[in-house]
Amino acid sequence: MISSVFQQNFTYVAAPQRIVFESQAHLRVGEEVAALGRKRCLVLTTPEQAATGTNLVSVLGQAAVEHFDGATMHTPVDITEKAVLLAQRVDADCLVAIGGGSTIGLSKAIALRTALPQVVIPTSFAGSEATPILGQTEANRKTTLTDGRIRPDVVLYDVTLVRSLPPHLVISSGMNALAHAIEGLYARDRNPIASLMAIEGIRAIRSALLRLRQGEADDAAWSEALYGAWLCGSVLGQVGMALHHKLCHALGGGFNLPHAETHAVMLPHAVAYNEVVIPDLLQPVAAIFGTDTAHAGLTAFASQISAPTSLAELGFTVGDLPNAVKLATANPYWNPRPVERSGIEAILSRALNGEPAQS
Ligand code: NAD
Repeated sequence: MISSVFQQNFTYVAAPQRIVFESQAHLRVGEEVAALGRKRCLVLTTPEQAATGTNLVSVLGQAAVEHFDGATMHTPVDITEKAVLLAQRVDADCLVAIGGGSTIGLSKAIALRTALPQVVIPTSFAGSEATPILGQTEANRKTTLTDGRIRPDVVLYDVTLVRSLPPHLVISSGMNALAHAIEGLYARDRNPIASLMAIEGIRAIRSALLRLRQGEADDAAWSEALYGAWLCGSVLGQVGMALHHKLCHALGGGFNLPHAETHAVMLPHAVAYNEVVIPDLLQPVAAIFGTDTAHAGLTAFASQISAPTSLAELGFTVGDLPNAVKLATANPYWNPRPVERSGIEAILSRALNGEPAQS
């Protein structure tokens, strides 16, 4: 049984955002843009999803003024600046992003600099659309900011667009979503609403990934994964994250490791590190996975769905370890268990070699 997430004291702030969750929701993009009183959209995609952007341009018709297909991982500032210049040159009055976290990141980065409204159509499970957070990279350094004004105005969740997600990304992007919800359960500023969303998000992602992994790629499984991604992303958008996100941020920004895969590898290890001091807060995770501990459940789940389990397979080397430990322990931050150098070294080393997580 899952224990209650009741708290005697908490603060909860509801953030306004319009969510449309519907098969073929992307066909509504024109009416959503019109409802915002906008007429000149800049459509954003990665180069890999350029064709999806071209299709959206035709759905928008005259309301699309330009398509920028240069979005890339970790939101490099030089690319944002190019896109801002383009938005100004074509006199865009609205941003329409279709893609994963990288494309939505570009949309937020442009919104930060131009105050343009955003309609976003997520095609992965990263959850960036539900948050006011932006990570940007400049000169190999990734910095993160939080600003309520960059939370997208409208999100169109369309299951027909996630089915093309490459199989390895289905799994790792799903693990990325789990990470938001799991760290949300033990966040310092957690609240019962975020915790309820986290529990339902974890349940939904687990159930959907097990089916998607087995090739039972039915509409209901894709839809439940997208629903879980929304819930998990909403948790990330409400409460502060801790060790796991800090480690992934250091590894992604410092060593250019792929975002979702890094989350997939690190999650059981970061949870094991923290579980020693907060087993009660992680009880819902253990209950959902049917194991004695959350980290054991996550370790078994990762193997069941063939998620990546070693940093080495992502290109991280033993020579990178000292610098990674330094990055991950620089600038003190809150975590339920104090962040100690030797402990971080141990989990990074286990993650490097693909060894099981240990408390
Ligand atoms: P991504 O957006 O980089 O996508 C990876 C690749 O998959 C890209 O080539 C993309 O075009 C392609 N892709 C995405 N969806 C697809 C689909 N349905 N079909 C075919 N191809 C598809 O990867 P991601 O994991 O979604 O996002 C990672 C980025 O998002 C990182 O930069 C990370 O920092 C950021 N992020 C930010 C937040 C936040 O709240 N700020 C939250 C999560 C992730």
